[in-house]
Amino acid sequence: MTAEARTDRESMEFDVVIVGAGPAGLSCAIRLRQHNPGLSVCIVEKGSEVGAHLLSGAVLETRALDELIPDWREMGAPVKTAVTKDRLLLLTKNRAIPMPAPPQMHNRGNFIISLCNLSRWLGDQAESIGVEIFPGFAAAEILYDDTGAVRGVATGDVGLDRDGKPSASFEPGVELLARQTIFAEGAHGSLTKQLIEKFDLRKDSDPQTYGLGVKEIWKVAPEMHREGLVVHTIGWPLDNWTYGGSFLYHMEDCQVAVGLVVGLDYENPHLSPFEEMQRFKLHPAIRPTFEGGKRVAYGARALVEGGFQSLPKLTFPGGLLIGDTAGFLNVPKIKGNHMAMKSGMVAAEALADLFRIGNVTEATSYPERLKRSWLWTELKKVRNIRPGFKYGLYQGLVNAAFETATFGLAPWTLKNQADYAQLKKLKDVAPIDYPRPDGTITFDRASSVWLSNTNHAEDQPCHLRLKDPAIPVDVNLPEYGEPAQNYCPAGVYEIITDDDGRPKFQINAQNCVHCKTCDIKDPSQNIIWTVPQGGDGPNYPNM
Ligand SMILES: Cc1cc2nc3c(=O)[nH]c(=O)nc-3n(C[C@H](O)[C@H](O)[C@H](O)COP(=O)(O)OP(=O)(O)OC[C@H]3O[C@@H](n4cnc5c(N)ncnc54)[C@H](O)[C@@H]3O)c2cc1C
Ligand code: SF4
Repeated sequence: MTAEARTDRESMEFDVVIVGAGPAGLSCAIRLRQHNPGLSVCIVEKGSEVGAHLLSGAVLETRALDELIPDWREMGAPVKTAVTKDRLLLLTKNRAIPMPAPPQMHNRGNFIISLCNLSRWLGDQAESIGVEIFPGFAAAEILYDDTGAVRGVATGDVGLDRDGKPSASFEPGVELLARQTIFAEGAHGSLTKQLIEKFDLRKDSDPQTYGLGVKEIWKVAPEMHREGLVVHTIGWPLDNWTYGGSFLYHMEDCQVAVGLVVGLDYENPHLSPFEEMQRFKLHPAIRPTFEGGKRVAYGARALVEGGFQSLPKLTFPGGLLIGDTAGFLNVPKIKGNHMAMKSGMVAAEALADLFRIGNVTEATSYPERLKRSWLWTELKKVRNIRPGFKYGLYQGLVNAAFETATFGLAPWTLKNQADYAQLKKLKDVAPIDYPRPDGTITFDRASSVWLSNTNHAEDQPCHLRLKDPAIPVDVNLPEYGEPAQNYCPAGVYEIITDDDGRPKFQINAQNCVHCKTCDIKDPSQNIIWTVPQGGDGPNYPNM
């Protein structure tokens, strides 16, 4: 253990500790026990229960699930709503032009699911074969041994006051020690970020790039519901230079999942993904779906868009990365769940072998196995499609058609650039005038956040940390209008006026829905998202 090891924490020892009970972490745990039932495997999850922090579209390609649990149908997996029809629309302000869906977006054979529900079911399957899952515990710290290898994680202390001092209810975190620690934190993991820096994992790769997905679930009027219908749109309300698109998935029981994903490489600091999502619903081709309906859930989450060229080195002494925190998402397909699951399974297979021969320092066979799997081929083939959109929507579509027709065999690989560096200064952009919410189809942030059921105990250190508290007002405000006020989909950041009439940066941390956008998009890279007290955050029922 490192020199700063604490003596007040209890420790528990496992063969494998997994951080994050999303599809990647759960599939990895199940595969580990399937291949080697003797291994002790534990998952630590910051949500109050498995699924509470998960947000996806979601249309599921079942390829990985078929491999993991072949009889998932007979076993009652919540994967029931088969896709019946795909539509792709190009929106202008007043028109919706039907487009041929590219092969990647064909969803015949896929299912519309709730990732929360699927993950709860996977959690049950994992526990039934001996995996220990600890929901409500956030991994707050990485533990290293004397050689510098990862030795496990520590969960956060509970009962610290706002200044970080122990209160009467203080309980120290627990050290979860392992021979291998697997990070499955989803897009832009807070511990993964530290690992990437410590082990220089991005030395040979492009920066990761992201999109922010703002999602709602509606109970719509029965006459507007077509179970199994999948609609995607591109174009309006985003301009030609802003990447993104929407999805409408008609689930069971008159529910429609609707979301807008905005590429976080957008340039205009006035842009608000939340407001774009609200005005998207006002389009004449979209609005009728929601008329007479009721919004029942709201949430937001970043997703990885960098693809193949942004994959970091995946292993380091004592651990490895799987799922979105590593960067496995097929952007043209708008699907990452099958890749998250597959990467977890491949990592598990590599580790199970290493445990068998007793050599578990660094699982270098994991990336080697991945390279031989369908995941690698699939991701490599589409690597140039997303970065092609930096030249604009129509140029991006032409490039996408070329890449698809040539099966991604072009001898070049387009580069990705960091999202935060793409923001232009106020003087170089035009303001955006968003319509006021009508309270029927469109809403404000406060009523939206309420539907996310997010909750953070007031009396705890702020989990949104500023490297330099002066930057929001001294740098970000004059140069960019402090864009955190616009990009945060939960209204966490505000510029208010203090008693002396000076601008003040206010952080309403209790509203945070853990989307990670502030840590990604802040132009000064001054905001550090850390885990709050375990169990705090959104409580999504079926996102
Ligand atoms: C708006 C949107 C739409 C999408 N649509 C689709 C779709 O239609 N089809 C599809 O296949 N994919 C879709 N995706 C992508 C898909 O959801 C992801 O690829 C997938 O969820 C990644 O799985 P994961 O297990 O890597 O991470 P996640 O699903 O993000 O799970 C990570 C888990 O780790 C936990 N965690 C994180 N940090 C810690 C910590 N320090 N301590 C403890 N726990 C921690 C989190 O609470 C979470 O439960 C979509 C994503 C978004 C955002
Ligand atoms: S504070 Fe950051 S992580 Fe939380 S909701 Fe806002 S942008 Fe997302």
